Amino acid sequence: MTDLKCPICSNTSIKPPTIEVAGKKYDCGICGAFLIAVPAEETLKNKSCDYKLSAWIREHHEFKREPPKITTYILEDVLKNFPDHKVSEKQTLLMRAIERRTDYPGAEVRINDQDYPLAWAKNYEELKFIIRSLKERGFIYINDANEDRLNIGFVQTKILPNGWDYLDKLTITCLHKSGICCYVI
Ligand SMILES: [Zn+2]
Repeated sequence: MTDLKCPICSNTSIKPPTIEVAGKKYDCGICGAFLIAVPAEETLKNKSCDYKLSAWIREHHEFKREPPKITTYILEDVLKNFPDHKVSEKQTLLMRAIERRTDYPGAEVRINDQDYPLAWAKNYEELKFIIRSLKERGFIYINDANEDRLNIGFVQTKILPNGWDYLDKLTITCLHKSGICCYVI
């Protein structure tokens, strides 16, 4: 057995990192790709990591930015400034993630247990709660079979007309307030 795991989220289903000049490059199914400097990895060895770091790294992957480099500076200073998203904001973040994965209105999208950072959720349990909340609000459709699959680790869902209206209104409200849309997410 190996003790190989992601230094950020402790995911054990991960390939060995590649060694680069600036540190080790991991590619984690939960966090996405990132480079971590040796001192930062040492710092993380004996403590549990903030789930927001996974979400922040995953955002880089989601928006096709360069994989971030995790240094001790990031761990000590940047982490403090990460947002504390409200429950409603986490719902919006997940709706945006489903929207990005939707080929055409009505198309189904698969969300799995490794996708919880997309909603800045702490774990898959929180993601399931957010998914069910969106269903209860009538924003997404999940059939009974898929409701059961949620507990296994994935769900097929699609955005309903109410959900599209919700996403459209977010943009409009935002435009009215500031002149530019802050919901780039
Ligand atoms: Zn990870």
